Amino acid sequence: MVDTPKPDQLAKISYNPPRSGWMDTPVEIRDGIYCYGGKPQNLEIVDFPNPREWKPTEKDWKLPKEWKEIVYEGLRERLDKHRSLRLFMDICVRCGACADKCHFFIGSGDPKNMPVLRAELLRSVYRKNFTAAGKILGKVAGARELTEDVIKEWWYYFFQCTECRRCSVFCPYGIDQAEITIIGRELLNLLGLNTDWISAPVANCYRVGNHLGIQPHAFKDMIDFFVDEIETLTGIKVEPTFNRKGAEILFVTPSGDVFADPGTYTCMGYLMLFHQLGLDYTWSTYASEGGNFGYFTSLEMGKRLNAKIYNEAKRLGVKWVLGGECGHMWRVVQQYMDTWNGPADFLEQPVSPITGTRFENTKSTKMVHIIEFTADLIKNGKLKLDKSRNDHLKVTFHDSCNPARAMGFFEEPRYVINNVCNYFYEMPPNTIKEQTFCCGSGSGLNAGENMELRMRGGFPRANAVRYVHEKYGVNMLANICAIDRAVFPTLMQYWVPEVDVTGVHELVANAMVMDGEIERTTDLRGEPLPGMEEATEDDEDV
Ligand code: SF4
Ligand code: SF4
Repeated sequence: MVDTPKPDQLAKISYNPPRSGWMDTPVEIRDGIYCYGGKPQNLEIVDFPNPREWKPTEKDWKLPKEWKEIVYEGLRERLDKHRSLRLFMDICVRCGACADKCHFFIGSGDPKNMPVLRAELLRSVYRKNFTAAGKILGKVAGARELTEDVIKEWWYYFFQCTECRRCSVFCPYGIDQAEITIIGRELLNLLGLNTDWISAPVANCYRVGNHLGIQPHAFKDMIDFFVDEIETLTGIKVEPTFNRKGAEILFVTPSGDVFADPGTYTCMGYLMLFHQLGLDYTWSTYASEGGNFGYFTSLEMGKRLNAKIYNEAKRLGVKWVLGGECGHMWRVVQQYMDTWNGPADFLEQPVSPITGTRFENTKSTKMVHIIEFTADLIKNGKLKLDKSRNDHLKVTFHDSCNPARAMGFFEEPRYVINNVCNYFYEMPPNTIKEQTFCCGSGSGLNAGENMELRMRGGFPRANAVRYVHEKYGVNMLANICAIDRAVFPTLMQYWVPEVDVTGVHELVANAMVMDGEIERTTDLRGEPLPGMEEATEDDEDV
């Protein structure tokens, strides 16, 4: 693994294009920018083609003999299947409106990270083989031959797109680069070209139920650990259940919330909230992952991994599903799950048992996002909240790409935060809500070996955080996505080390006054609550 350049070095970004045209500028696979290739054992588990040991920096990628025919046939099938793909291949007028909107282009200056050019990587091969102009005029019509170097270029750049869809907001034709990247990755997977950071979680999830391959007993042990922590903090023993048949609600969240700080504090927040409400819910040790790295591989693999949510809901006989704070999990749920694995006619339209609110927007999926569930609780006065417990925090909110752009969750998180915190500050308008900047590590790019890419891709987001830190003294970045909670601590440490990271339900649980709780002296992280500094020092002396 190479050392990541220091922030002052990385911030010197050159936007000068190379002297040669893009088709004549060969791809250079640079350390710190790419993730390691997928290992054969992980491809074998999910029955994917061409499992073998290979290294992206070696000349021979050990492609199957008939690799060109596989790509042509794969592209033909997808053009027939997805009308959107054919449109996206044909209608771009190269106006350039998207060119400077991608965080990877802003952070790297590499022209092939301009969304329009990223799409051209695939479009040029499409033109050469599927259009008359491309066949006859070749390069003049923007067409080029498919070669091994082109495949390497696809692999390098389709795994430098986080499928965040920011560029599509600015495209006058609504061309969705994320959809093009998904198809690009699908074609690469037909040749056995994935990254290990994606294919290993996919294999784990397929075998065991979650990305880390955590066995059911270890999953339960971790939740039990949180139960003890909550009892120490509040004097209250929460009593979650697992795989309980007949529960009203199945709760599914990304495993990142269960196994990695600071997501673990968000997870404690869920447990405390559900206990306070007396919610009739259960965890599943089988559907123990809300995230879906299959979606970063192919639509088919996304569907296979997503199937467990409805299957488990059916097996347990619940009425509906509640989901935790996640990003891409919700793009899958909102835009694909119903048609992939539904209709879930065996479930009921979700109704909050606490407020009686019927979630009309979940009529078909039968799955409610916890941020809308909690916003509804607050709106109906069902939670007793002491905002001052979060007074040590000056909070800003990062709109995670998928809940924001795919679901339109702009106001719900802000409503919740404003009800549990006294100090909330927005980042500049062109960096939030629909125009939010990606964390730079989504869609399976959150590995360790591509750290330079991540720090570059996260630069625009971090820049906006720095702005509110310097202007208002913001010291906490809230979000509703498990990948954000996993990757932002590193990004903040690199660009804005004064700012920490939290899930929204950690803030909720800090502020929520629970029935029968002892006097709280610390927040969920064990830090003294405002005004309780001396009390915690006394505790330490004892
Ligand atoms: S904004 Fe849309 S039409 Fe314009 S170059 Fe980008 S993808 Fe093409
Ligand atoms: S990373 Fe986001 S902004 Fe960049 S090309 Fe991909 S979808 Fe567009």
